[in-house]
This record gives sequence, structure tokens and C-alpha cells, in this order.
Amino acid sequence: MKELNYDVVVIGAGAAGLATAEVTASAGRSTLVIDRDDFAGGVLMQCIHNGFGLHHFKEELTGPEYAERLESAARNAGAEFLLQTTVMDFNLADNENKELLALSPEYGVMRITAKAVMLAMGCRERNRGNIGIPGRRPAGIFTAGLAQRLINMSGLLPGKSAVIIGSGDIGLIMARRLTWSGIPVKAVVEIRPFPSGLTRNIVQCLNDFNIPLYLGHTVSKINGADRVESVEISPLVDGVPDSSRSFTIECDTVLLSAGLIPENELSKRGGVTINMTTGGPLVDAWRMTNIPGVFAGGNVLHVHDLADYASDEAALAGRHILDYLNGKRPGREFPVAAGGNLRYVTPNEYIPGEKTQFFMRSLIVEDDAELIVSLDGQEIMRKKLRFVKPPEMLSVEVPGELTARGGQLSFALNGGGR
Ligand SMILES: Cc1cc2nc3c(=O)[nH]c(=O)nc-3n(C[C@H](O)[C@H](O)[C@H](O)COP(=O)(O)OP(=O)(O)OC[C@H]3O[C@@H](n4cnc5c(N)ncnc54)[C@H](O)[C@@H]3O)c2cc1C
Repeated sequence: MKELNYDVVVIGAGAAGLATAEVTASAGRSTLVIDRDDFAGGVLMQCIHNGFGLHHFKEELTGPEYAERLESAARNAGAEFLLQTTVMDFNLADNENKELLALSPEYGVMRITAKAVMLAMGCRERNRGNIGIPGRRPAGIFTAGLAQRLINMSGLLPGKSAVIIGSGDIGLIMARRLTWSGIPVKAVVEIRPFPSGLTRNIVQCLNDFNIPLYLGHTVSKINGADRVESVEISPLVDGVPDSSRSFTIECDTVLLSAGLIPENELSKRGGVTINMTTGGPLVDAWRMTNIPGVFAGGNVLHVHDLADYASDEAALAGRHILDYLNGKRPGREFPVAAGGNLRYVTPNEYIPGEKTQFFMRSLIVEDDAELIVSLDGQEIMRKKLRFVKPPEMLSVEVPGELTARGGQLSFALNGGGR
């Protein structure tokens, strides 16, 4: 069996993993990046639209361009790569030698040991089983990300006319992509009363192409024997499909864009504690999980709207991996809680007196909202937010001097929603 040993092993070569690898390799730490795909870049490689890198590179790049920059930086810093290699299992308990079992067509099963491990496995799409749509199981039903990969990377068209279930960003981007590829998109159907994707994507991907968006509607049935023939769409009344107002749209393709789930089956096997709200590991201010020396960042931690946020967060984890390898520890940390109108806040702990960037998602749609930060119930900071809604991730930096005395830090949004 091939045996390898590194200071740092990064699982996943997407925006997050590449950013961590650049930081740790630049500091002279031997770093191995493992990815099961044939190439580095992760989901970026199928996102051939532009809109990446505005924060990080101050330029508008396509996904592959963005990935290429991150990969070159990591390789130039000295990071090594094992592609077409899947991490199958690990034993993380030993502080000095965390052991990973990986499988590749070239080397078979490999045992890789590392002093620190970065979890950067991204996320996966919710599928038909996850959202439970009734009807038969004909061909022609794809997750939006799979359809994107088929068109953008394999040059295959998934069908001739489509309906998209869910208004998540991947579905919106695919509505435009299908239209450009000559596949009319007859409807996007969203169960919630507001879109799940970013406003810019609603405008640029639906409105600009006159694609109807049915809010507060659901696909109540998929018809077809061998191949999808049509879908039945129903408005929701008090959360229940109103069959008296159902209508049918003919199409041979259905794309699902109904959310993403952080990819943590492996993390769970390794004993990493998972936050039930985000589906990602619980992490402290260093982005370190409950297992010393095991860090997480990017979509494996919580689903990010922007690649820049994923790579920034993972670079931060990389800097703390260096601290960890140099024998430092975070010291006493205090808990962070998501209060009124917020679904979650990450990280889940902070270090008193240290400036910390927090990410969170709103549960409400609200104009002119205010974010209130409290320490042990006493307000320490208030920030005006012009507009909040669940699809748009919020971020706030809390200065160290405000948290110096320690205590439970809580975040809440005022306003009752609309
Ligand atoms: C369709 C779409 C459009 C987007 N549009 C934009 C945009 O316009 N602008 C923007 O800034 N952001 C956009 N984003 C968001 C951004 O692309 C992502 O947030 C970011 O790229 C996620 O990076 P990641 O490294 O966390 O995950 P990923 O890119 O998913 O990388 C995870 C990697 O881990 C690997 N992996 C998983 N498990 C294993 C294992 N066991 N062994 C080995 N390897 C493994 C996977 O193969 C994958 O390569 C978009 C995302 C999508 C999906």
C-alpha cells in the first residue's frame, strides 16, 4: 500500500481547499490537496458564466478563470495534488498523525498521514428523494448542477424543453443557460413566496428572458412513462396544493434546484460534530472542529453564495492551521448564538478581544433591517442593513474591543418580515 505523510492534507480542491493550500504551502508546510475529480477547481469548473472574484481579485472572472488563479497560486506555493483520488475514510483522533484512507485508479488504496486536516468537500444538491415530488420516475429529471455539468463540461443537452423546480441560484443560472442552448424554459416554480436565489440572478437569468417565475407554487405531479411528458403545477394555499387551480405544462425535462447540503458523510464518520441547522461542522473562531487539528471551510461548513467568501474563510482556516502546527491553541472561547429572525451564525465560538468576521442567514425578507449584536444580553453593536432576505448571506465584523470581557455573543435581526 502506498504511504504518504504531510503536515497538512486538504480534502477537496474547490475554491476553499485551494485557498487553504496556498496559505499553508506558502508558509513552507508540506501540503497535499486531494480531489476525487479529474481536475482541481470543484464546482467552479462548470460555472462558465462570469461574476466570480469581484471581492478577491477586484475583477469579474468566470468560474474556471477564478479556479485557475487559485490553483496556480497553490501550486506555485508548493502544494502537491492527488487528483482522481477519493478520501474514503479517516481516523482523526490521533493529534500528531491523522490517518486517511484514499483510493485512486493509479495507486489503489493509499494511507496518508497528516498533522492537520482541512475539510473542504463542498456540498451536494438536494434531489427528488429529498424534496418528495409525487408521480412516476421517467427519464429527464436532473439536478440543476448535473445539467450544468452535462452542458458546460460534456457538451450534452439534457432535453428539448424544461421546467425548473426551485429558484435557487443554480436553477436560475441554468434557466439562462438552457435558453441560450435552444431549450425553452417554460417555468420556474418556487414553493416559497419569495425567490431562493440572488436578486441579480432573478433579473439577469429570468426577467431578461421573460421566463415566468411561479412563487408560492409547487409541482404536484410529474407525468410521463419512459420520459417526462409534462408537469402539473399547483398554487399553495396554507401550504397545501390547491388542485382546483392546478395547470399542466408540457416539457420533457425537469431540473431540480431545491437547495444544497454540505457534504459531511465523511466528517461524521470521523467523529466531527455537525451543526443540525447548517449541516456543516460546528467550528470555533479558528474554523477548527471539535477534533483538534481538523478544520473546515467553504461549502462543507455552510453554503456560500460567493466563491470569494468560501475562499476567504478557508484562507483564514489555513492561517490557523499554521498556528496549530506551531503549537498555538485558540485559548478560552465563548459561544455564539443566532437569535431573532436569523437561521444561523457561524463560527459558533469566538475569542474575546479578537476581531471576528461572522456569517449568517436571515429567516425574514425585510427592507431597512437592523442587526443587533449583544454580549450576555447587553447590546454592544447595531448595524443597519438596507435589505435582508434568506438567500443573501449576511456578514459582519465585530471589533475585538467590543468582546474583550467575554460572555455569550448573540445576533438578532429586528423587523417582522414582509
Ligand atoms: C451553479 C453555481 C453558480 C455559482 N455562481 C457564483 C457566482 O456567480 N459568483 C460567485 O462568487 N460564486 C458563485 N457560486 C458559488 C461558488 O462557486 C461556491 O460557493 C464555491 O466555489 C464553493 O467552493 P468549495 O471549495 O467550498 O466547494 P466545491 O467547489 O464543491 O469543492 C469541493 C471539492 O471537494 C471534492 N470532494 C468532495 N468529497 C471528496 C472526497 N471524499 N475525496 C476527495 N475529494 C472530494 C469535490 O470533488 C470538489 O472538487 C456558484 C455556485 C454554483 C454551484
